[in-house]
Amino acid sequence: MKRFKAKKNVRAALAAAVLVTGLSPVLGAPSAQAAEATSANGFDLRVLHTNDTHAHLDNIDRRVTAINAERNDHTLLLDAGDVFSGTLYFNQYGGLADLYFMNLLKYDAMTFGNHEFDKGPAGLVPFLKEAKFPFVSANIDFTADKDLASYSSATIGEPGAEGKIYPAIIKEVKGEKVGIIGLTTSDTIALASPGENVKFKDDVESAQKAVDELTAKGVNKIIALSHLGYPEDQVLAKEVDGIDIIVGGHSHTKLDKPTVYDGGEAPVLIVQTGEYGVNLGKLDATFDTKGVLTKWEGQLINVDAKNKDESYVIKGNEAAATKLKEYSAKLEELKTTVIGKSDVTLDGERNSVRKQETNLGDFMADGMRAKVESIVELGDAKGYVTIQNAGGIRATIPSGDVTLGALLTTMPFGNNLSALKMTGTEIKAALENGVSGVETGEGRFPQVSGMKFTYDSKQPGEKIDSVTGELTQEGSRITDIQILGENGQYTPIEPNSYYIVATNSYIAGGGDFYRSMAAAKEDGRFYELNLVDYEVFREYLDSVGTVKQATEGRITDAPGTASETPSGETPASVFSDIASDANAASIEALHSAGFVNGYADGTFRPAASVTRAEFAAILARTVGAEGDASKHTYTDNVPAWAAAYVAGLEAKGLLGSLEGPTFGAKQAVTNAEAAELIALAANVEPSAIEVGAADAKVTRGQLVGLIAKYLVKS
Ligand SMILES: [Zn+2]
Repeated sequence: MKRFKAKKNVRAALAAAVLVTGLSPVLGAPSAQAAEATSANGFDLRVLHTNDTHAHLDNIDRRVTAINAERNDHTLLLDAGDVFSGTLYFNQYGGLADLYFMNLLKYDAMTFGNHEFDKGPAGLVPFLKEAKFPFVSANIDFTADKDLASYSSATIGEPGAEGKIYPAIIKEVKGEKVGIIGLTTSDTIALASPGENVKFKDDVESAQKAVDELTAKGVNKIIALSHLGYPEDQVLAKEVDGIDIIVGGHSHTKLDKPTVYDGGEAPVLIVQTGEYGVNLGKLDATFDTKGVLTKWEGQLINVDAKNKDESYVIKGNEAAATKLKEYSAKLEELKTTVIGKSDVTLDGERNSVRKQETNLGDFMADGMRAKVESIVELGDAKGYVTIQNAGGIRATIPSGDVTLGALLTTMPFGNNLSALKMTGTEIKAALENGVSGVETGEGRFPQVSGMKFTYDSKQPGEKIDSVTGELTQEGSRITDIQILGENGQYTPIEPNSYYIVATNSYIAGGGDFYRSMAAAKEDGRFYELNLVDYEVFREYLDSVGTVKQATEGRITDAPGTASETPSGETPASVFSDIASDANAASIEALHSAGFVNGYADGTFRPAASVTRAEFAAILARTVGAEGDASKHTYTDNVPAWAAAYVAGLEAKGLLGSLEGPTFGAKQAVTNAEAAELIALAANVEPSAIEVGAADAKVTRGQLVGLIAKYLVKS
């Protein structure tokens, strides 16, 4: 967008002039006009800033100490939004606990984050009423909203009244005027609940308008409080003429040093602290008499930094700590709140969720997918799926009333919902990582929604050098991925198509070794949702009513099934060699149910014979008899991949004449043996099972036909 540049050209010349003094780290070539505007006769401003604190108050006593220690006689204390939502302090107090401390700290101004609209416009009113500082918002029009219109002003606040909303305000610092404008992401419409009547306008145009109004009033030092996110802040720096400092938020970006935008004109600084009040931002900036930045020094002060003895470097303010205790006392009570009901135990046991699909994993992943579907448009993507790492699921939720406390025990991290746009190949890479630590119960194991997949735990998993983070061994376990379509049918994932992946911010950023997710994020295929996980779960719980979730065959370990095939290939879902087989329909049905697997070369090999170990695996999967791999009583070698199935069948007394001291895992199964075991599982006489010659070996196709006919209810 073309912008008015005249003022900046003047500023650029002046800024370049300063370079010779060596104070400015990034500007262009030196100029002969050096040293006219040195800091000696400049204006010094200190900006202390926070963003995306999200009701994280547990360190507020230290934050109070830090802010008081850093404040001097030329300080502005600013917040870039998203004070609301993230911990129980918000559930209990709706932002007013945070506000108590913001008032105490004498914040100078705040802009709204999207989360400030989580409880609708009416939910923001108590916050405005009690605030002892003004709000800035240049790109939101509140005039049509019945709750907020009376708080908003179309004109600039000089300096602005407590609890009122202005496009910009002018603060006086040591006799100098500093303009502060506010901007909020228009994604708020999808991310929160601003309602029909809170209107968002173009952020760049709105910012330019507010800056021009400030300039017209003779203000030449301008700060934008921006809840747009770091990428948009860079656009702002480039497109809007006249902003000097952008105090950012929304993307939770931790900038250890200010980003300097230098378009060959006047410099623009971008600062942001990360999230949750862990860091206090501190920017010392010097302006010349024309309002051009001549030098700066920005840093983040880690409020939670610890000494060697684990004590905090920054000591908490006692009065603040006492007040916080008053607020926190009520939270214990809040945890007993009943938020839903479940007819089933929702399995979040460590030994379950990190090794297999569980009904809690399914339910949680479904809730994440539903929320993302409601926000992120599909566009050219082929479907929505979820990948949630099991490490983020910490406990079982018992059946009966579901309490908020139980939910928070299950999801204690306050992770945020995120979404990525990933290719089929990237999703496969993510799942490959996910199943690579299954033997040792690593937290990366994926719980999924909108898809089902099969892997072969006998194949090598990925290995990553823990020091360098580099891949030292490729994984080749994933043998099949099917995506759930709108019609309820599963179809094979397409390697080159895009899918929208609901996940959490931790693994979206590459946590738990999810490198393909981090790559998608770095590529810009990322959606800032920042909705806290337990709230997403709670909303889904509300929409479902009583939970009856069972597992659905979304994740299947088929050990040994990929062993005869080249690694790393995705098998076809429809086998290339069953078209003329009498049992083709049964093969497809049982395959799609996850009971049997084909080979990675796209064949099923229906005429091949079946070993006892394979038979046990197929039978156990079909009747849900997987047991504890260490518990079978056979003294000969039962392969590791089959041990759990053999043990499960044995425990249920379903091995018939195969019981004894030895199992004979590699022996081919005869028709008579197949009939006996299927009859046992179906609880009928063996004579009721129609098979061929008793001593003949049963084929893979025949076995699947028998299982489909006698054991799978249609
Ligand atoms: Zn935000």
